[in-house]
Amino acid sequence: MPELMTAAVLRGKEDLRIERVAMPVAGPGEVVLRVEAALTCGTDLKVYRRGYHAKMLTPDRLFGHEVAGVVLKVGDGVENFRAGDRVVPLNSAPCDACFFCQHGQQNLCDDLLFNNGAYAEYIRVPARIVAKNTLLLPDKMAFEHAALTEPLACVMRGLEESQAKAGNTMIVLGAGPIGLLFIHAAALMGVQVIAVVKRSDQVATARKFGAEKVLRIGDVEDPIAAARALTPDGRGADMVIEAVATPQAWEWATQMARKGGLVNLFGGPPAGTTVQFDTNLLHYSDLTLKASFHHTPATARAAFELLASGRFQCADFLTGTAAIDELPGVFAGMMVRPAEGIAPEIKTAIFPHGREVLR
Ligand SMILES: [Zn+2]
Ligand SMILES: [Zn+2]
Repeated sequence: MPELMTAAVLRGKEDLRIERVAMPVAGPGEVVLRVEAALTCGTDLKVYRRGYHAKMLTPDRLFGHEVAGVVLKVGDGVENFRAGDRVVPLNSAPCDACFFCQHGQQNLCDDLLFNNGAYAEYIRVPARIVAKNTLLLPDKMAFEHAALTEPLACVMRGLEESQAKAGNTMIVLGAGPIGLLFIHAAALMGVQVIAVVKRSDQVATARKFGAEKVLRIGDVEDPIAAARALTPDGRGADMVIEAVATPQAWEWATQMARKGGLVNLFGGPPAGTTVQFDTNLLHYSDLTLKASFHHTPATARAAFELLASGRFQCADFLTGTAAIDELPGVFAGMMVRPAEGIAPEIKTAIFPHGREVLR
């Protein structure tokens, strides 16, 4: 086994370097994976922009959290996995002992354990994640598809919290990676999805993932009225998902829901951001506001099953591929929006050892 490996190390704000670092070792209960695919993510882009993350990033600043790979080493006491297993580890696991875990809110665990280091040749998976939140891939499932489990797990929790079911009308604000995962997962459930997007290239993308109607805000004078007009009898949507992370989108979302409807403010704007809501609208329309965060082991499994089902258009979410030493360029590129009309990458799959060919 080599003593050093190649990994992306976040040294500071917009300073991502490819370095040789110590090969991870599997301690008791832990496993070391050979990384077969790691995906870029909007959260990683935020961390890259700021150079830190209060909760999620380890001190050695190994980076990346959407990953799938093959078990290379197992530590003492690991019984559920062995070398050669193809797995997807989630990026966190709850304690199952605190108040929140005991009340069905493991996503809010007081001691949520995070793991990072997906953009590397190998990654160590902590014992708690091995025990509670690592899933075995079916033979035919591609690593880069399995690596979608983490973002989709957040979305599945968002859908569950929004009580979405077949026949509902849902407005999704935003068509970045998370907005598109919402559109696709909801459409597969039989929800009628209306996508509200900004860029012209997002119109076709939103339709490809199952949106029945798409409204481009630049095409209308009053996006709120135009979005409501697309709902049955113009009464507003049963549920509105906000996936833009701006105060304006949060405010619009409340104005697009029907009476008695639900608004899920899913996108997280920067700390210190405030919004203004019309109190009469919230009260007399009897709106429910939610702001779902992260995932639970149950929604991780629901996401994984959907990805493995063959119904989910996994490949359409992976619009780029790169080798690990190209990663700094990939992140620099994500900072620059392409010209209007040219679709930005949804997710880029990083293959540190080259791409596996599935039979
Ligand atoms: Zn992510
Ligand atoms: Zn807990």
